[in-house]
Amino acid sequence: MAAMKWWGWGLDGVEFTHEDKPELGPFIKQQLGLDLARATEAPPTFAELELAEPSLPAELRAALEGAVSAEQVSVDPLDRVVHARGKSIRDLIRQRRGDLPRLPDVVVRPADEDEVTAVLTAALAADAVVIPFGGGSSISGSLEPPADETRPVISLDLGRLDRVLEIDTVSRLARVQAGVFGPRLEEQLNARGYTCGHFPDSFTHSTLGGWIATRSSGMQSDRYGDIADVTRGLRVVTPTGMLITQPVPSASNGPSVREMVLGSEGRLGVITEATIQVRRLPEERRIIGYLFPTFAAGLAAMRDIADSECQVSVTRVSDAPETQFSFATRKAQSTGDKLQWKALTTYLRRRLGFQLDQMCLSFIGYEGSESHVAEQRKAVGKIVKRHGGLTVGSGPGALYDQKKFDTPYIRDFLLDRGVPADVSETAMPWSRLSTVYDAVNAAGHGAFAKLGVQGYLMCHLSHSYHGGACLYFTFAFRPTPGADMLAQYDVVKSAIQQAFVDNGASLSHHHAVGTEHAPWLEQDISAPGVALVQALFAGADPGRNLNPGKIV
Ligand code: FAD
Repeated sequence: MAAMKWWGWGLDGVEFTHEDKPELGPFIKQQLGLDLARATEAPPTFAELELAEPSLPAELRAALEGAVSAEQVSVDPLDRVVHARGKSIRDLIRQRRGDLPRLPDVVVRPADEDEVTAVLTAALAADAVVIPFGGGSSISGSLEPPADETRPVISLDLGRLDRVLEIDTVSRLARVQAGVFGPRLEEQLNARGYTCGHFPDSFTHSTLGGWIATRSSGMQSDRYGDIADVTRGLRVVTPTGMLITQPVPSASNGPSVREMVLGSEGRLGVITEATIQVRRLPEERRIIGYLFPTFAAGLAAMRDIADSECQVSVTRVSDAPETQFSFATRKAQSTGDKLQWKALTTYLRRRLGFQLDQMCLSFIGYEGSESHVAEQRKAVGKIVKRHGGLTVGSGPGALYDQKKFDTPYIRDFLLDRGVPADVSETAMPWSRLSTVYDAVNAAGHGAFAKLGVQGYLMCHLSHSYHGGACLYFTFAFRPTPGADMLAQYDVVKSAIQQAFVDNGASLSHHHAVGTEHAPWLEQDISAPGVALVQALFAGADPGRNLNPGKIV
């Protein structure tokens, strides 16, 4: 897998454009006062960056070359910059500013578990820091070396560990190397008739090991579970030896070591292999669009679906601002499409009493045999109707399905125009959903007002559980001319995060802690909880060699 752009998301040459979306320019002009036609903040060229020379003692370099061969030990400046950070908006802003105080000194690419062990042994002997690197898609500051780190820093890129080793077809469990990227994992499983079913928005540029180390969640988690459910057995190279957990469906063997590794962000060791649950590829897969009169009605419908016997793969409902943004990103419509849209909106207003500016778009996914999908659609349709919603068919769902991995490119497009856009997501019980939603809206818009900036805040429910759901907020604002964009971003992001923990919601549902969310950890899990995590890391890694400074 080719490395991502050093200054943005995805591969060179792939970008978002507004040119084929005629409604987007006027929409952004109205909401943010921004003229999309003018890109004013292009990233610098790589040659313009000032980079510190690597500090890699000859003895350590020789030991690393002995562990993985000289070709797999890189001090190439571009390699070091790509491995310096993830892809949070803070990362992107600082990369673009050339603000690179501490790069990894070396990037090392082991081929297998033995080589990972040899690298870790060499690193510990030299008291070096090791930061495991999957796809580099971290959005919570989980990859950056501490600015004041004086020891050599090794970025351990797991990308060569990319194979499905074995499938136990009786148990539907696959042994997989941890550095495999999403597409390559699915390609290997699909060839045998299976799927892992884990599809985060970052799927194309993230790895199994990264998913496990951040407790990731995919858009089809309602059917397949979060990565915490998908992951059964683990093999982890730690400073004290090989940590192995058996791939059993459940166990009563004390506090769960498997759970300790999940979300450990490289602080406990290097995950080399996981045994994951896989499922037969479904016969049929459908994403159907629905419209609800209000967000409250959409949320109530999702809650009732979670409480029913329906088995769906995706539950998603956008609030009115996100619905309007989605409509604004439509491609140019044909005359037939326009007429159809007019007929639909007239029906919604006149017959169903919708106020169009309150309308909310929803997608629900179905998988399985043809008859299963048909039955589920029927059952869900009844719930939707009960909440005043309307089925709009598979057209919008198919479009959403095609576009789902393109959205991350929008952040770079907006940054090129001087606008930071970011996300904050959280989980809470169903009973707290509307309280959290209202509190976050008040906090986000309050922050825009405090800064005196034009901003946009939108939200969708992205994952449902029996007892609660995940709300996913996206915000963008036009910074004050001459002001520090990052300082203004902090005001908005902090207000939203604080509203989460003040209202009984988690600091994150699936984006991990890293350094970005660490200030809210104690408010989320309590002081004794933080002490427990600190003691775990100190016991496993007394020299603080493994990704220090993350989580706690
Ligand atoms: P990296 O970013 O390389 O690393 C993340 C952390 O895991 C680091 O602490 C690293 O040290 C550690 N790590 C990586 N590999 C290993 C290993 N083998 N052993 C030990 N530690 C390891 N997340 C979601 O869950 N769902 C989404 O839908 C989603 N969408 C995103 C969209 C965008 C645009 C962006 C930028 C991020 C998104 N994320 C999402 C966040 C990110 O993709 C996830 O956190 C992902 O799991 C990280 O995987 P990675 O392979 O890129 O790991």
